[in-house]
Amino acid sequence: MARLARFWLGCVALWRARRQAREGQAGKPMASVRSRELQARLDSAIVDGEFCFHYQGKFDTAQLRLVGLEALLRWDHPRHGLIYPNAFIGLAEQTDAIVALGNWGIDAACRQLAQWRAAGLPLVPVAVNVSARQLCQPHLPDFVLRCLQRHAIPPGLLELEVTESCCIDDMAQATQGLRRLRALGLAISLDDYGTGHAGLSHVRMLPIHTIKIDRSFIADLGSSGSDAVIVASTLAMARGLGLQVLAEGVENGEQLAQLRRLGCPQVQGFYLHRPAPVAEVAALLAAGAPADRVTVPQHGAMRHGADAQ
Ligand code: C2E
Ligand code: MG
Ligand code: MG
Repeated sequence: MARLARFWLGCVALWRARRQAREGQAGKPMASVRSRELQARLDSAIVDGEFCFHYQGKFDTAQLRLVGLEALLRWDHPRHGLIYPNAFIGLAEQTDAIVALGNWGIDAACRQLAQWRAAGLPLVPVAVNVSARQLCQPHLPDFVLRCLQRHAIPPGLLELEVTESCCIDDMAQATQGLRRLRALGLAISLDDYGTGHAGLSHVRMLPIHTIKIDRSFIADLGSSGSDAVIVASTLAMARGLGLQVLAEGVENGEQLAQLRRLGCPQVQGFYLHRPAPVAEVAALLAAGAPADRVTVPQHGAMRHGADAQ
């Protein structure tokens, strides 16, 4: 009986292994077929106006006032629907499409600011993510200046977000480009801070004005003492260097309360505001605060008004 059971278990294991191998082989070409299809259509999709931004609010931790927006790219694909950047930014970075896409983004953000201004809405700085290849384009500062002038946008309303890996490959080129952009009056944020290999020397050298602490350090903030220590030491370093700090990926009231206790000045995350299409952002700009008010319950932790009942 035991031998029969072992035989059957062996058969099942073999069958599973074969199925996994078959599915693995079938799955990979599927994924790369779609990737190739997306990559081939990138340039025409820009021309055809298939890209748009969703905007996510950034807030000051103390009062939860809106202090900025981050523009997050979406591809409204005619066949596949809304595609998120992780599915196509890497593909675009393999070709010059990333430069065309990045340039489109800077112009689109300036145009959007001009449209909100025309609608009489209060404006806050809009941050656009910039890729390494775009940052190394010697003409980037001139291009940014032309976009600002075309839409009559003051440079202080445009912010660029760069990652450590953007700058590490060609530090000299990146620093030079960023210095010129800073000189124009743009704010520069160091995105996903803590996930790269750049180290503190880069923070000191780069002409940045804000550090955005990566959401991986925020996720377990309530339970992980080491994450709290990393956030606290980042805050101390930033204070010493005169830099602004924003914590990314705030998903609940406990994380928000902890960031408040640690003295983190700015926050961004699904708990306060999810990235939203332009039609929904006007209400956020008009209110200047998250639509769903956040309250502080008796014990000190924060909950959304609705959750707190
Ligand atoms: P990022 O710049 O770090 O943007 C933040 C990402 O985290 C966004 O994902 C946002 O939707 C997500 N997020 C925000 N709050 C929360 C939260 O509370 N919890 C969780 N789990 N996620 C949160 P998204 O829009 O998918 O963008 C992913 C990345 O794609 C961005 O990371 C950025 O590196 C890149 N990206 C987006 N737009 C552009 C662009 O216009 N140009 C370039 N070069 N890269 C872009
Ligand atoms: Mg970003
Ligand atoms: Mg980030």
